[in-house]
Amino acid sequence: MPPVGEAPRIVLLPGDGIGPEIVAAARQLLEALGEFKFEERLMGGCSIDAHGVALTDEVLAACKKADAVLLGAVGGPRWDTTDPDAPRPEQGLLGLRKGMGLYANLRPVRPSPALVGASPLRPERIAGTDLLVVRELTGGIYFGASGRQGDTAHDTCEYSVAEIERIARAGFEAARRRAEHGAGRKGRVTSVDKANVLETSRLWREVVTSLAGEYPDVELDHLLVDNAAMQLVSRPAEFDVIVTENLFGDILSDESAMLTGSLGMLPSASLGEAGAPGLFEPVHGSAPDIAGKGIANPLATFLSAAMMLRHGLGRPAEADRIEAAVDRALQAGLRTPDLAGEGERSVGTDEMTEAVLVEL
Ligand code: NAD
Repeated sequence: MPPVGEAPRIVLLPGDGIGPEIVAAARQLLEALGEFKFEERLMGGCSIDAHGVALTDEVLAACKKADAVLLGAVGGPRWDTTDPDAPRPEQGLLGLRKGMGLYANLRPVRPSPALVGASPLRPERIAGTDLLVVRELTGGIYFGASGRQGDTAHDTCEYSVAEIERIARAGFEAARRRAEHGAGRKGRVTSVDKANVLETSRLWREVVTSLAGEYPDVELDHLLVDNAAMQLVSRPAEFDVIVTENLFGDILSDESAMLTGSLGMLPSASLGEAGAPGLFEPVHGSAPDIAGKGIANPLATFLSAAMMLRHGLGRPAEADRIEAAVDRALQAGLRTPDLAGEGERSVGTDEMTEAVLVEL
């Protein structure tokens, strides 16, 4: 968090594909809101091209010194390879998460009222959905020992009590905050694991349960991951906060994202210890199929900037302004091609940005 009265220092990592287009649009929006000090850096495929690695030490150091980091997206066919030794754009993301100590990934899923029709679910099923997926980000199978011996490969899943405790607390506290802001609803955490099979999951369940006493105002229930995947499509409106480990969270947060039918609308925040800078980015990827065409939907990045203002910079009023402006632009009927229904008129990135700026 910047000292009071000082312009926040924001590192922008536009990345690859549509990343530079949507981050430029978000920069315009932030500039219209107030004073920020921006520093633009390379990360992802563009950094591989320039420096041979997806994330340089210098860029990581700049991110750690900033008040917040806003990322576009990384990757694309240009850097796709099955060579295990070749640098890959995603290594930049993993390096940032690890290097900045970002252990909690927050993904809100609340379909904008104007877009309920875009959901692959029937309107009565999706109506009222307002959930938050809290995913552990720096442990588990993505960071365990892996390797190959002959024709066999292995990836190891490990979790410590301390790792589980801090992410469980992030979940309980998010549920508490949401209940305080929501209309009289009691907060609920659904912890997702595979405790019938995995030892890490049994430890997970034990530790999450042991913390519940500290949060008497929050209900806790447990679901096996396969069941959670089903419940998310059969009764999404009944979830509040879902807390889960890295691999399950990766999959369930994408499933939750698709509940809205609008990948171009979903923001995310990755947070570490209190006071350390967070990383804010849209959920979608670099959309190489539409890069450079001027039709990328910038709204997920705008909503990520709103999460940055709220969770990273302590400026909730401005976050509210962005979210309200996005809702109004949608209510006014503006749609980028990914949101437009058949026969509906669509606008490009610039026109959508302009509309949101007017609504600010
Ligand atoms: P993607 O999210 O980039 O695209 C999926 C589909 O959604 C595409 O048709 C795309 O055109 C569309 N889309 C996505 N965002 C959009 C937007 N803002 N506006 C309009 N349409 C949008 O996923 P993918 O195609 O699986 O991956 C493409 C590349 O992005 C890959 O290299 C992948 O590794 C990478 N990726 C990066 C991130 C990240 O940086 N966090 C996340 C996911 C994928």
